[in-house]
Amino acid sequence: MPLNIAIDGPAGAGKSTIAKLIAKKKNLIYVDTGAMYRAVALYILRQKTDLDDADAVASACREADITIRYEEGVQVVYLNGENVNAFLRTEEVGNTASKTSANPAVREHLLNLQRKLAKENDCIMDGRDIGTVVLPEAQLKVFLTASSDVRAKRRFDELVAKGEAADFEKIKADIEKRDYQDMHREIAPLKQAEDARLVDTSDMSIEEVVDTICNMI
Ligand code: C5P
Repeated sequence: MPLNIAIDGPAGAGKSTIAKLIAKKKNLIYVDTGAMYRAVALYILRQKTDLDDADAVASACREADITIRYEEGVQVVYLNGENVNAFLRTEEVGNTASKTSANPAVREHLLNLQRKLAKENDCIMDGRDIGTVVLPEAQLKVFLTASSDVRAKRRFDELVAKGEAADFEKIKADIEKRDYQDMHREIAPLKQAEDARLVDTSDMSIEEVVDTICNMI
């Protein structure tokens, strides 16, 4: 049975940074499920589908064929054959993904793809529902979190480093809204699995978090 590690937690907790580093150290593939939800959201945005129309979102998502490939160790997301990695990390796509990911058809659309990757590979997979729904049998589950101030500051610094305009209060409000939506949806809400270990990264360096989780492995 392949080694499966589940990392869940709210937006900006550092899941992808940490999971990528652990994947390299432990020779695992890194499965970024948020990127899959973002790719569906990108499709829905491009189609100008009404986000409040659940049936329209459900039928649009069925037209979005999502394929994952690993190219030089990096996860590449293909949306109907197009490499869309460059379009996924905007605030607009993230906020839309938080809305559309509450739709049961969207979740069902991606679940099999996520389980198939975990069945065929030693992997570390991050998201919101990996330990609770996608991989309940994962050998290690971690719930990674940090205060909303710390998470907003990290996003703010990232945007400033890229030379983009950033408004701390708006970023914090967006993060809190996204957390609320992710925690209060009916299907697969963000929550700590009973057998997950809690790691609060508010006062930890990246290296400390990586070491802590590697020791758990
Ligand atoms: O982690 P990331 O910010 O890329 O995720 C974008 C959105 O996708 C999240 O806010 C969440 O609503 C959704 N998501 C999810 N389940 C996952 C991963 C992401 O619902 N396993």
